[in-house]
Amino acid sequence: MNPFTRTVGAAVIAAGVSPGCSPSETTEAAADNPPKPMQFAEDAVPKFAAGDLKFDADRSLKYLKAICDIGPRVSGTDGMKKQQELIEKHFKDLGATVTRQEFKARQVSRRADTEMTNIVVSWHPEKTRRILLCCHYDTRPLADQEERRANWMKPFLSANDGASGVAMLMELGHQIKNLKGEVGLDFVFFDGEEYIFEPSQFGGGDKYFFGSEHFAADYTRTKSTRKFKYEAGALMDLCHAKGSVLKVEQYSYASAPKVCERIWAVADSIGAKSFKYQPGPEVLDDHIALNRADIPTADIIDFDYPHWHKLTDTPDKISGDQMTEVAKVLAVWWMTTK
Ligand code: ZN
Repeated sequence: MNPFTRTVGAAVIAAGVSPGCSPSETTEAAADNPPKPMQFAEDAVPKFAAGDLKFDADRSLKYLKAICDIGPRVSGTDGMKKQQELIEKHFKDLGATVTRQEFKARQVSRRADTEMTNIVVSWHPEKTRRILLCCHYDTRPLADQEERRANWMKPFLSANDGASGVAMLMELGHQIKNLKGEVGLDFVFFDGEEYIFEPSQFGGGDKYFFGSEHFAADYTRTKSTRKFKYEAGALMDLCHAKGSVLKVEQYSYASAPKVCERIWAVADSIGAKSFKYQPGPEVLDDHIALNRADIPTADIIDFDYPHWHKLTDTPDKISGDQMTEVAKVLAVWWMTTK
């Protein structure tokens, strides 16, 4: 399978069906000209001993199970409401400031609007320069990579595809009070990333990325009144399975090369072996809207997760050690951002 034409993570990257990008052209360009140099500049490598960071891999897995035990968390459903309550309570109990960004979205294939909510969890809210860590937290309504169409409607748990990012950030939230950063830190959970009933690869016109597009539009709209600015962002998607391989996604590198270099340099310096500073394919995902809104953001994603959009995307595919590895990279990146 040609990874450059695969439908990965959130969205379709085959030619002609992308929401707002022209991947066919950039795909060929990227294939001919992989990003260079894929070596770290000397000042990209942080001087930091990660040995003291304590992450509880078992507790991350417990959070993952709690989320998947809710069942599917499709936008606008009771499952999603339960997950929102769980997230809100968890981070409030840890002392973070939790804000709901509520909005209505109209999906092409739906007759009515759907209530959607992004959740913003802020640490050190007084700091005006901030780092953004984000993931989508909605479940795709259909497991449409299942070969038998009869299986599409069966309950899809989306353990790596959404839940694992939430669980990793829930565990990272426990550690924040023991860590020091010069800049502020926000966790953002995007709704409606893949509220897809009629996928474009099957001729439908449903739209992706409601949450990140709403968030980005709000960020742009409030430019003259808000008191903070995001210096950089990292999006986590499908990156916590056993055996994950995390290469540099192409749109991320094109839009936010310094952020990519820095994150992968941090990973290299702390021995996070799943991060490979090599060109990967390109993916349409929530980072596109953020980069367009002037938040340079890297998508940390495993392009080859075999259970993607299948009923087999279940908690047993997820590794607590992998969640810990990603959490450590993000924590050190935040702490060494000046
Ligand atoms: Zn997905």
